Amino acid sequence: MTRADRVQARLDDVDALLVTDLVNLRYLTGFTGSNGLCVLGPGLRRFVTDFRYVERAAAEVDGWDRERSPTEFLAALGEGWPENVRRLGFEDQRVTVRQHARLRELVPEPIELVAAGGRVEAERARKEDAEIAAIAAAAQLADAALAAALADGLIGRTERDVALALETAIRAGGGEPAFATIVAAGVNGAAPHATPGDRAIERGTLVTIDFGARLDGYCSDCTRTYAAGAVGDDLAAIHDLVLRAQTAALDAVRPGAEGREVDAVARDLITADGHGEHFGHGLGHGVGLEVHEAPRLARTAKEPLQNGNIVTVEPGVYVPGLGGVRIEDLVVVAPDGARVLSGHSKELTVLD
Ligand code: ZN
Ligand code: ZN
Repeated sequence: MTRADRVQARLDDVDALLVTDLVNLRYLTGFTGSNGLCVLGPGLRRFVTDFRYVERAAAEVDGWDRERSPTEFLAALGEGWPENVRRLGFEDQRVTVRQHARLRELVPEPIELVAAGGRVEAERARKEDAEIAAIAAAAQLADAALAAALADGLIGRTERDVALALETAIRAGGGEPAFATIVAAGVNGAAPHATPGDRAIERGTLVTIDFGARLDGYCSDCTRTYAAGAVGDDLAAIHDLVLRAQTAALDAVRPGAEGREVDAVARDLITADGHGEHFGHGLGHGVGLEVHEAPRLARTAKEPLQNGNIVTVEPGVYVPGLGGVRIEDLVVVAPDGARVLSGHSKELTVLD
């Protein structure tokens, strides 16, 4: 069964699905260009791109009827519809109001447009073995890059310098950063998504480094928090709490566990220690072609984890004016629990 076949099996309420999200398009067809769409349904495998990408599509897209679009890209959808398509799903999380109006003008009248987002994302959440291998390779590259970036220690360097060294090492290894690397020292660590700045990292502070590589299209995501020189008991205690919460949540990861149940394992521990209000984000998220994708581990996530999901487990405690700790592993949901893809030690490591 192809990926398109599996997505087609999810189309119970529509006859065909129009895919305009470029990541979903890549997942289904292999196409890596920046303009394209596909339509899939029983007996229907249309792929459309513009003249710039005709050759690339010929090399990348197999098993689809390839079309070159007219000058106005969406106009390709004005014809070519089999009679059995009455209800056409579109990705309502991606199609703009303007595009929808244009689609309504172009797609022949008897065909109804139906909001049907999330079908491809649901299929993407269950990774194939080759995808797991690709993500593991990205994680390994990122881990090696972090080791290289930390070889010169932390104290006295700027957050920006550490982030740059890490990203340079990722590029030198053949990948690219999956997202803007976070290096947050001292009180900056109290902001979960701090931007690396030009202040020198001071002795006695915690430094949170959140980093990932993209390799062959697939992402990794990992966070470690280090001590720049010995830190005080208050900071060490927060690190210990987050590590205990993270380890307990990892133990709760298994097929069938709901995202909110795994989230609660970490959140309850942190709340019992008085830091509930300092853990303001969800526990984790799926990772694949995108660094944030399905499924989620969060207070409101009811869907159960499935064998083959790849998710992060990343509790954090952020204390304004003091600092923060986040510890994030990337794991495969497997029958016997979580298989961890992140390599670096999570114990509080003191670097100079
Ligand atoms: Zn991260
Ligand atoms: Zn993450």
